Amino acid sequence: MAEKLNLFIDGNFVKSNTKNWVEVLNPATQEVLCEAPCATEEEIEIAVKSAKEAFFSWREIPPPERSRIMMKYQDLLKINHDEIAKILSKENGKTFEDAKGDVWRGIEVVEQAANITPLLMGETVENVAREIDSYSYTQSLGVCLGITPFNFPAMIPLWMFPMAIACGNTFILKPSEQDPMTANKLAELFIEAGAPSNLLQVIHGGKEQVDQLIKHPDIRAISFVGSVPVGQYIYKTGTEHLKRVQSFAGAKNHMVVMPDANKNKTIDSLVGSSIGAAGQRCMAISVAVFVGSSKEWIEDLKNEMQSVFPGPWDSEESGFGPVISPQAKEKIIGLIERGKNEADCLIDGSNCSVEGYPDGNWVGTTLFSNVKTDSEIYKTEIFGPVLLCIEVDSLEDAIKLINANPYGNGTSIFTASGRSARKFRHEIEVGQVGINVPIPVPLPFFSFTGWKQSFYGDLHAYGKQAVRFYTETKTVTERWFEEDEESTRNLTINLE
Ligand code: NAD
Repeated sequence: MAEKLNLFIDGNFVKSNTKNWVEVLNPATQEVLCEAPCATEEEIEIAVKSAKEAFFSWREIPPPERSRIMMKYQDLLKINHDEIAKILSKENGKTFEDAKGDVWRGIEVVEQAANITPLLMGETVENVAREIDSYSYTQSLGVCLGITPFNFPAMIPLWMFPMAIACGNTFILKPSEQDPMTANKLAELFIEAGAPSNLLQVIHGGKEQVDQLIKHPDIRAISFVGSVPVGQYIYKTGTEHLKRVQSFAGAKNHMVVMPDANKNKTIDSLVGSSIGAAGQRCMAISVAVFVGSSKEWIEDLKNEMQSVFPGPWDSEESGFGPVISPQAKEKIIGLIERGKNEADCLIDGSNCSVEGYPDGNWVGTTLFSNVKTDSEIYKTEIFGPVLLCIEVDSLEDAIKLINANPYGNGTSIFTASGRSARKFRHEIEVGQVGINVPIPVPLPFFSFTGWKQSFYGDLHAYGKQAVRFYTETKTVTERWFEEDEESTRNLTINLE
């Protein structure tokens, strides 16, 4: 019998009373790693109530004290780095090296949460009117909710709860049901770091559990990361229930290749950013836009891509792992088949096998050229190890093409020309831009700033924007009288 994964509610890891369990499978073997519960209504109620009660004492804890817990937490995450990466690799399938990156990029956000106090500072102005001063404070919101996707089981939860909690809130995390074990490990270490045990609650499950949470009257703010249809649904339903929502969704990221770029660096970057993590990254490059004569490099790109193969997480030979599920594999292969009628298929990864792993969700490296923007493979987020090549005549054409795409998560340009890079950076309608950098995920002192259909909301993840998302601003206007001061009635709104 597979192990039953616990919920983490009201300060304890507990076995769910649910009758509804989801098998968590190793994507390379289909071995059942554990069964994850779909939490019951009652369990969700207990978690929210516990988080609400915890909030009233936690918000009184001075920010420097909150920071000290985060300092200890980042230390424990570093000590347990490889162990977390191992759990993550097994349930997600990504290679061990890549899993370590997943954990590390999360730790960087915890480091920021450990320095929260200056970010919480308000503003002051003296004498806004005669002898009247104004100043503002940031105050915490209450219970916040995070709903996370399968593709970064450590990094994305760590984008959310450490910042929310450092800002004085409590948090309910609903990780992906496809790889939920990492979240429990993150919660376990958080308690070990000295966090009061009911600041963070981990609820497992799927749509039903999400629906109860996003409509719950005691949830103040919702952070979501996942696919476009679900992202839109969460944003609409959450805001309809008058909650603050930030919703990060899907993508189709383009890399522009200029003929003056460093050829080897460009090709290596294209390979890594398109098929790394089996293309299951929201910042993966899925379209290469070759400008002018750079299209002659497509043959070299093909040769490089052909030398990278999928394999199990614990083999150093593996370039990337399996895709997350048989359903994901089926969807990707369906799109590859469709693409064969829409474009030129230079490498076909649809019939891929890995020795010793007959049941893995393998999809091999796939490359298309002559892709048209009205094709299904261009319009759909494939989320697999598939790269599309488009050829255009000029940088202007490349910019126009990218700006017409509905997504706006990330993009990059490879060039030796500062002038081209500046034009691209300035004119491109995408929220995260790399210049000779293929996956420009900002470090946590900035924010993760996807645009267009890749993001619904106003304030983004981590950085200063996360502090504004997880807090409320209170502005005070203050005057002190002389004891014998004369008084006159003021019937206007003016400060007098
Ligand atoms: P998903 O939308 O299927 O699931 C995300 C979360 O929503 C999970 O916790 C899941 O349980 C829940 N969920 C699923 N269906 C639901 C429904 N109908 N109602 C309510 N909740 C539901 O996404 P996924 O497949 O886990 O992740 C991959 C997607 O996430 C890709 O589209 C990728 O681009 C996107 N992503 C975006 C970013 C970003 O920052 N923009 C980062 C990572 C991943």
